[in-house]
Amino acid sequence: MGLILSLNNFSISFQNSLPEVSGDYKFNYPLSRIAWFKVGGPAEVMFIPKDKQDLICFLKNIKKIQDEIFVVGACSNLLIRDGGLRGVVIKLGNNFKSIKYEEDHLFVGAGALDIVVSRFAASKGIGGLEFLSGIPGTIGGSIIMNAGAYGREISDILVSVEAVDNYGRIHNIDSNDISFSYRSSQIDNNLILLGACLKGYKEDHLVIKNQLNEIQKLRNDTQPIKRKTGGSTFKNPKDSKYKAWELIDLSGCRGMKKGGAVVSDQHCNFLINTGNASAFELEKLGDEIRSKVFCSTGVNLDWEIKRVGQLLEVSR
Ligand SMILES: Cc1cc2nc3c(=O)[nH]c(=O)nc-3n(C[C@H](O)[C@H](O)[C@H](O)COP(=O)(O)OP(=O)(O)OC[C@H]3O[C@@H](n4cnc5c(N)ncnc54)[C@H](O)[C@@H]3O)c2cc1C
Repeated sequence: MGLILSLNNFSISFQNSLPEVSGDYKFNYPLSRIAWFKVGGPAEVMFIPKDKQDLICFLKNIKKIQDEIFVVGACSNLLIRDGGLRGVVIKLGNNFKSIKYEEDHLFVGAGALDIVVSRFAASKGIGGLEFLSGIPGTIGGSIIMNAGAYGREISDILVSVEAVDNYGRIHNIDSNDISFSYRSSQIDNNLILLGACLKGYKEDHLVIKNQLNEIQKLRNDTQPIKRKTGGSTFKNPKDSKYKAWELIDLSGCRGMKKGGAVVSDQHCNFLINTGNASAFELEKLGDEIRSKVFCSTGVNLDWEIKRVGQLLEVSR
């Protein structure tokens, strides 16, 4: 009881110490509302900056808690644990979603959705961004994850990024100065991406349209995209001739369950929240899959989904 009271007091004094902003603060905001998995505890504080200046002002004035600022995009690659996130979770609002273009270059806000950017490019006859149409994240999250599909990754089309650090200083970084690898980037944790320049190429509208249709059909046929999921749970291992889903299938994990969490029958590298799963059950199921795959095949699967927040053992 004493501990709970002092934690609450800490929370209240932390909330009272936040700088004045023009955007919105939400306290104890349930992150399950915005997470693709529809699970996860609250953000102690959710900050939705009005615009770039507001975000800079916040960063310059907040008491330094570097470890306790976390940025989310569309939460499509996050398993937010049931204990939620301490500190401030930043979600970029509408003024970070702009899209402009000049010839075959696009200048996009980090909060813009990949699919919106891909469709915008298509409408201007700019090709090379079709693969983004099937990825349900934002540009910011996709750069951090080096998201990709069908043989292309966002690093292939990235020219530069604009970012702000925890002290409110702006950085413009050439993509050649960022190290990217499969589903990962070496971008400093203390940077919040604000926008990016992407490069496509002039392409016939019909060719782009056909590619977009093909991607949509492939997704519908092979992935449970209408379910509560986090996409591919594990990375395809570098040192195996099998993909992650094949190893999971070979190890007998298709259809495995833990409470309300289940391994998708349609694509067994996808975990599904069937309705009332907890983040703990989803994570536990993922860990059990890793052990089974390791026992059967000797391959150690690496999580592609990022698990964040405080672990709480919630079973339903
Ligand atoms: C149905 C489904 C299908 C998917 N298919 C694919 C696929 O084909 N290919 C693929 O690569 N991925 C896929 N994913 C995973 C996911 O969509 C991608 O990883 C996506 O790029 C994540 O973007 P996000 O905005 O949701 O990021 P989030 O999940 O919100 O965050 C991911 C990481 O990025 C960081 N981040 C987000 N925004 C910013 C920012 N502005 N500045 C700094 N850091 C930031 C977060 O802190 C976190 O570390 C799929 C997911 C689902 C649910």
